[in-house]
Amino acid sequence: MTANVEHAAVTRSRALFARASTATPGGVNSPVRAFRAVGGTPRFMARGEGPYLWDADGNRYVDLVSSWGPMILGHAHPDVVSAVRRASGAGLSFGTPTEGEVELAEEIIRRVPPVEQVRLVNSGTEATMSAIRLARGFTGRSKVVKFAGCYHGHVDALLAEAGSGVATLALPGTPGVTGAQTGDTMVLPYNDVEAVRAAFAEHGADIACVITEAAAGNMGAVPPEPGFNAELRELCHASGALLVMDEVMTGFRVSGSGWYGLEGVAGDLYTFGKVMSGGLPAAAFGGRADVMARLAPSGPVYQAGTLAGNPVAVAAGLATLRAADDEVYRLLDRNARRLGELIGDALTAEGVPHQVQYAGNMLSVFFTDEPVRDYAAAQASQTWRFPVFFHALLARGVYPPPSGFECMFVNAAMDDAAFAVIAEALPHAAAAAAAATEEGRQ
Ligand code: PLP
Repeated sequence: MTANVEHAAVTRSRALFARASTATPGGVNSPVRAFRAVGGTPRFMARGEGPYLWDADGNRYVDLVSSWGPMILGHAHPDVVSAVRRASGAGLSFGTPTEGEVELAEEIIRRVPPVEQVRLVNSGTEATMSAIRLARGFTGRSKVVKFAGCYHGHVDALLAEAGSGVATLALPGTPGVTGAQTGDTMVLPYNDVEAVRAAFAEHGADIACVITEAAAGNMGAVPPEPGFNAELRELCHASGALLVMDEVMTGFRVSGSGWYGLEGVAGDLYTFGKVMSGGLPAAAFGGRADVMARLAPSGPVYQAGTLAGNPVAVAAGLATLRAADDEVYRLLDRNARRLGELIGDALTAEGVPHQVQYAGNMLSVFFTDEPVRDYAAAQASQTWRFPVFFHALLARGVYPPPSGFECMFVNAAMDDAAFAVIAEALPHAAAAAAAATEEGRQ
């Protein structure tokens, strides 16, 4: 692969990756971790503390991934670690209701007023899958509208690629997902109100819900244009469909109340994950009480989970949310701006075309002169500059997401020392990006 510049010793990571590749497809348990988009050896991490990760060879990195979002407080935050110790000492799983589940549900409801009831699940994928089922059960309709470039987990019906034109009926985006499973999914261009209007004009009576990332973070950071989410809400309500706000990524990260706290457009259903689990496997969906009442055992729409509301995961989530005070959100915002400015300055100094884009305090860099407002524009950017940019940072102790289409996630533990490492590394990364050529990519 390109850009395999490995200054640091990665002997143990390399050996572990070889072993892993025998035991596990591609050597990883989630594809992006395999470094396929950037080449080189995935780092096997051994430890995290504050803003840093240490790999199996003992190399230290300033972490710009934060476990893909959850670790807003930094790694091994003492409050969260001691809450987990306490909870695990009292037993790992009971398969019964516990008080902690009620407290976590109440905390979510308190922070996001449109959410009146919450059901806990194990992953963001489960949350969106269940929210879609509930929306269909509630409305008695079958069609789901999603946006190209928005990722909602690996739910069969939502793994649909964009087609062109208005209201293209989706084709499955992966082998193993049948046309029948995506046949009721319509994929539209993000930030394109006219396309949504046209879809409702033609199929409105059949649309159960529109699902959208409250602010898109899975094609890089692409915020909704002013009025986009509000228009989705209008169109849904005018036709009796539900608006599902996927806040798995933005929830409790971009503000104490997620994207809702920044924009104030209420969805009918919400999905959450990441931050609310404190880094353990937990997620949630919730929303209007009349809709949630359709869920078993109150109503007929079935949904369940052996480990749902697991007491240890709940303890980690509660401890994280309780520690995430106004100061934490101030630091997250400040650190995101500081990082974005450093990246922008370094790329400007090298004359590299770029856009540093923010969705709240999530950010990404696109190598292009034009602001990116949808997936087509993200794909048309000079993505071939990213692998060398990535490896120049990695080799100097900074761990960015190993794909140009992923956001960087800051945490509140990033301090001047961590930023000094980033500031030292960035000019090298910018120079590498400047020297990259399209022909050089593989
Ligand atoms: N929704 C969004 C917006 C996400 O970013 C993700 C994962 O990154 C998911 C859903 C799926 O969550 P999980 O990976 O926990 O299944």
